[in-house]
Amino acid sequence: MDAALKSLSYPTADGDAARGLNGMRNDNAPVSAPIPVPAPTPLPVRPVEVAPQPASAQRVPDAIGMARPSREEAEAAVRTLLRWAGDDPNREGLIDTPARVVKAYGQLFGGYSQDADALLERVFEEVEGYSDVVLVRDIPFYSHCEHHMVPFMGLAHIAYYPTKGVVGLSKLARVVDTFARRLQTQETMTAQIADVIESILKPRGVAVMVEAEHLCMAMRGVQKAGVSTITTQFKGVFKDDANEQVRFLTLVRNKG
Ligand SMILES: [Zn+2]
Repeated sequence: MDAALKSLSYPTADGDAARGLNGMRNDNAPVSAPIPVPAPTPLPVRPVEVAPQPASAQRVPDAIGMARPSREEAEAAVRTLLRWAGDDPNREGLIDTPARVVKAYGQLFGGYSQDADALLERVFEEVEGYSDVVLVRDIPFYSHCEHHMVPFMGLAHIAYYPTKGVVGLSKLARVVDTFARRLQTQETMTAQIADVIESILKPRGVAVMVEAEHLCMAMRGVQKAGVSTITTQFKGVFKDDANEQVRFLTLVRNKG
């Protein structure tokens, strides 16, 4: 029983007065002693069982379902950051900036309201006979690192061995977009892409490679521009068979 349900177990006027605040019956309590309570309101009936976490839970950000601040609150926060940076939010060039930033966030972080699982389920196509590798290379993406909220961008490469179905190539690009348009680490994003493909398409194997440049490295701190960070995630045959990894890496690199 979770905390929300417990809190509903307060004594009511219909004879439950003998129950303690924790919902346990206390037989030593004088049943006749009335406990003053406000007029009882009908308690909402809620299922007691808590559904098990779906395997996809980690692909769904915690932020989903949280109360969002209002647009006005978000714009006020941008004005605060402008002042923190050392500028005057009321000067002419900046007066509309908070509204623009908030609007841009809707797009840059639109992945929080998108469900990659549903995206793949909808576009699933049965394949008959084809079981060799499907490779989608050079999918461009733009994301933001969760440590500095500074962009990182690059290319994603995805390969899988279909068993029951394939998806259109543009859909894989949208899956990448869904995860990229959140605050991310490159490692998490790489794993999330592989997870959702494995979970929905049930392929014999999935390989994902992400290569990216992190502006937080280029613009601040160590200030190294043009450095590419590569992350990979292998599942199924790609994980078990080193030859499959070599084949994937060769296919990705062979741009002829
Ligand atoms: Zn960063």
